[in-house]
Amino acid sequence: KSGFVTIIGRPNVGKSTFLNRVIGEKIAIISDKPQTTRNKIQCVYTGDDHQIVFLDTPGIHKPKNKLGQYMVSVSKDSLKEVDVILLLVDESLEMGPGDKYILDEIKDIKTHKILAINKIDKLKKDEVDQIVRNYEEFGVFDEIVPISAQLGSGVGYLIQAIKKLL
Ligand code: GDP
Ligand code: MG
Repeated sequence: KSGFVTIIGRPNVGKSTFLNRVIGEKIAIISDKPQTTRNKIQCVYTGDDHQIVFLDTPGIHKPKNKLGQYMVSVSKDSLKEVDVILLLVDESLEMGPGDKYILDEIKDIKTHKILAINKIDKLKKDEVDQIVRNYEEFGVFDEIVPISAQLGSGVGYLIQAIKKLL
C-alpha cells in the first residue's frame, strides 16, 4: 500500500515536530521554508508493507487579497488530489478562528480526513476526551486521534489510521 497525505494546520500546532517524530531523524525533513510550488514532498515514511508520502500544502489561511485568494484556491485543488488530509490542531479547548477557517475550507472536500489533536501531554485525560467530543460534533473526520508529537504517544496509532484509509 502507498498513498499521499497532506498535513495542514495553523503555525505552531506541531506539524514539523510530528514529521520529525514519524521519520525519526530530523535530517529527513526536506525543507520547512514557504514553498511556491504545490504539493511539495516533505518526507516519505516507509513501513513494513506500506509507504506514506507526506506532502506540504501551504496557503490554507484566510486570504487578505486577490493573490491570497488565488493561493488558497490552488491549495484547495491540491487537497482533492491526495488520499488523506491530516489536520493538526493543538491542545486548546476551544477552536480558534484559524482552525475554524481551515475546517470550513476542507469540510466539503471528498478526500478522507483525519484530525490529530496534538500536545496532549499538556492535558488531563478528561480534557482530551472533551476536545475529541467537540470535534466529533462537526462530523467531518474519518478518525480523530489524540497525540503528543513531542513524546510520541498516539503517533503509531495515527500511522495505522492513515494506512487504513490508503
Ligand atoms: P509547526 O509550526 O506546526 O511546524 O509547529 P512546530 O513543530 O514547529 O512546533 C511548535 C512548537 O510546539 C515547538 O515549540 C514544539 O516544541 C512544540 N510542540 C510540538 N509538538 C508538541 C507536543 O506534542 N507537546 C508539546 N508540549 N509541545 C509540542
Ligand atoms: Mg513547521
